[in-house]
Amino acid sequence: MKEPVSHSELPVEMTWDLSKMYASVDDWEKDFRKIDPLVEKLQAFKGKLGESPATLAAAFRAEDELGFLMEKLHTFAHLRSDEDTGISENRGRVDRILSKSAEVEGETAWFEPEIMAIDRKRFQAFAESPELEFYKLTLKRLEADRPHTLSEREERVLGLSSEIFAGPYKAFSVMNDADLRFPIVHDDQGGEVRLTHGNYIKLLESSHREVRKEAFHGMYSVYEQFKNTFAAILDTAVRTHTVEAGLRNFKSALEASLHEDAVPVSVYNSLIDTVHDSMEPLYDYFAFRAERLGLEKLHMYDIHCPLVPEAALEVPWKDAVSMVKTALRPLGDLYGTILERAFNERWIDIPEARGKRSGAYSSGCYQYPPYLLLNYSGNLDSVFTLAHELGHSLHSYFSDHANDYHYAGYRIFVAEVASTTNEILLQRHLVSQTRSAAEKAYLLNHLIDTIRGTLFRQTMFAEFERDIHAMAEAGEPLTADMLSDHYFKLNKRYHGPAVDPDDEIRYEWARIPHFHYDFYVYKYATGISAALALAKKILAGDTEGYLRFLKAGDSKEVIDIMKDAGVDFTTPAPVKDAMSMFADQVKELKSCLK
Ligand SMILES: [Zn+2]
Repeated sequence: MKEPVSHSELPVEMTWDLSKMYASVDDWEKDFRKIDPLVEKLQAFKGKLGESPATLAAAFRAEDELGFLMEKLHTFAHLRSDEDTGISENRGRVDRILSKSAEVEGETAWFEPEIMAIDRKRFQAFAESPELEFYKLTLKRLEADRPHTLSEREERVLGLSSEIFAGPYKAFSVMNDADLRFPIVHDDQGGEVRLTHGNYIKLLESSHREVRKEAFHGMYSVYEQFKNTFAAILDTAVRTHTVEAGLRNFKSALEASLHEDAVPVSVYNSLIDTVHDSMEPLYDYFAFRAERLGLEKLHMYDIHCPLVPEAALEVPWKDAVSMVKTALRPLGDLYGTILERAFNERWIDIPEARGKRSGAYSSGCYQYPPYLLLNYSGNLDSVFTLAHELGHSLHSYFSDHANDYHYAGYRIFVAEVASTTNEILLQRHLVSQTRSAAEKAYLLNHLIDTIRGTLFRQTMFAEFERDIHAMAEAGEPLTADMLSDHYFKLNKRYHGPAVDPDDEIRYEWARIPHFHYDFYVYKYATGISAALALAKKILAGDTEGYLRFLKAGDSKEVIDIMKDAGVDFTTPAPVKDAMSMFADQVKELKSCLK
């Protein structure tokens, strides 16, 4: 195998052009020295926020000016450092801006509490004033936090306890990542390997059934052995969520968590109910999978192996670019123009290089190019990655250009919508183009597995999370047996009659880190539902709602942003539509493999 070259040896047109942010490191240093004066400027407002609407508006502007500068410094520092993580001078810049950020955060922590301390009547008058018209939404959000904000002393106690509240996650990570030791298993070549988190999925994807079976049993034998410890940790984690929610006057931990994005609890419940009602196509897919694999019943370890071998397609970069451009043409001319700029103005760092950060991401800062880091390897998957990351970058571009810095950054709830939409558009394009049945089957199965893993599986997680928090809130202790029995029950429901639910799967909850970030995973399920619904509209020629979505940034609440785009999560329609698209894909796959 050829050793990759270092970043500095790559052809310049294959790398990103960070000089648009800072032409030289000296310029970065110059900006770094502007932080302290901007902090001082903001500190001058301390004790004065309640004086007048004009003062508060000026303080918001000062806060944004500082925030923007810090973001720009950090973005450049981490992008440069990711090119070659071996260069300590570049890493040093990241460390400096991170520690400066922490320092500034501490120094300016008075800002929000001081606004909250403005008495209610005065606050309402401020919110109606013309000087604060632009900040109305921010003020509305602060007002919504008011019933959940405690006295200064109580907030201090909670603040000081935050590290203790994070204890369960810390214990979980140390146990899961450092202490657990998995058995020796066999790989595809019959060689012995130590089972790890890293190679587990790879082994589960093996086309040799014995390999995946052994990995599966090996993995869960370890979790079973420590189930009581994991249960005690998760029980405590859930209790930290419910206790804090209670202290902050929320009815439940679920309500407290959704409050952040102003998402009604009914949206969460409706997601689960709608998925329950549309489980048939998934059951049908599993039955088909069993049939294709020549098995009477699927086991939990038969779900990840490919039904069709990956189309061994070698896609040179130039072809990937034209493939993606053509696939995204339905998004219209304006989108196409910006897309051209991504390629022509060197927003993308394309090839692998020695010491370059692995994986792929989109990252930029307001008013500057939304850069993409890739490690383009030329297989079909890496073309999908390109489409995905471009989705993020163009979403950022449109949001940044349609909004003031204050409302430009979009929320996690909508963050994966544009990227997934692009992947779906690429898949539809390639399916329509290919003449090879094997390639078509591969492409169909790719999307089917994405929907299975993102919509169905994450909804199952969301349901488990909701239920165990409700149990804890009802005063039930979360023991290993209780958690495992409930998990097993859900797992059966989300896999159906064609799957033999191996007993070991009951311990899967123990290895899922997401159960420690309360009520996060449902956003994956709503995100892909929205993407499927939007892709359907786009392919039918309707891009207006989609462009509105791209430009929305944080200028409205997420549920309203989606509603404006034609995806109304207060009804079951988007999730239902996603389900029917899943059913269509399964039908297409079946006929393709006939
Ligand atoms: Zn993404």
